[in-house]
Amino acid sequence: MPLVSGKKLLEDAHTNGYAIGAFSVDHLNSIVAVIETAEEMESPVMVQTGQGTFKQTKMNYLAALVKEVASDAKIPVALHLDHGTGFEQAIQAIRCGYTSLMFDGSRLDIEENISITRQIKIASETLGLPLEAELGKLGTRGSDEIQLLTDPDEAEYFAKETNVDSLAVALGNIHAAYGEDLSINLEHLKIINDRVGIPIVLHGGTGVLHDDIKKAIQLGVSKVNIATEWRRATIDYLRSELSNEDQNNFFALNMGIRNTICDIVRTKIELFGSLGKA
Ligand SMILES: [Zn+2]
Repeated sequence: MPLVSGKKLLEDAHTNGYAIGAFSVDHLNSIVAVIETAEEMESPVMVQTGQGTFKQTKMNYLAALVKEVASDAKIPVALHLDHGTGFEQAIQAIRCGYTSLMFDGSRLDIEENISITRQIKIASETLGLPLEAELGKLGTRGSDEIQLLTDPDEAEYFAKETNVDSLAVALGNIHAAYGEDLSINLEHLKIINDRVGIPIVLHGGTGVLHDDIKKAIQLGVSKVNIATEWRRATIDYLRSELSNEDQNNFFALNMGIRNTICDIVRTKIELFGSLGKA
């Protein structure tokens, strides 16, 4: 079916106590893996593309591929812009057919973050598309970015001032924490959730303890982002296959990559509780 607005997916997840998996993609194999696995599990899904991917592949190419694969699937698929950089990129994404937006102004001071978020919100709301914003500092494993939990007072103020549809928060979750079992601050999440009342988004889903993810979903998390996990699992898979010098079947490797991604998507959809919710 045609891409659907992410608003519908988020609201249904928020109302019914599960989370939408938002899987980053950057090549056709990953797009097919995510959408076909979600279809097999009768789960709604978000496919997202981020800034690292745009350095290699143009947004319009990615959007065209996602639209084409989604059109053959019988489940609702939304295409989400991850960590959008500002108004211009939001408009570019809308023109390419994205159905869910994020603006990440978490590095700006809060008033500047509010001001840009508000501008994009006018555009997204006019088109019935949801806008996600971010507060706090998540950090990325392996970089020297600082980490800072989202301030609940700021979150409440920001949500009121911008009327955003969802908020990405920092609770001890970190981007690119592959193979880690991080605990997140669930008490802090509860406080923020009570104050903002809108769907919360958990970035860095790769490195968070599965048990904590389940609890977080009961405390208002309605979207969980997964990116690093399949990328690193793909590298692990290739490393092991290529250690065998007789392995020179590209098609087999390509399918192996797809199956590696499918396995991860399957596990996450079960964990997030979106199985059968399409
Ligand atoms: Zn993120």
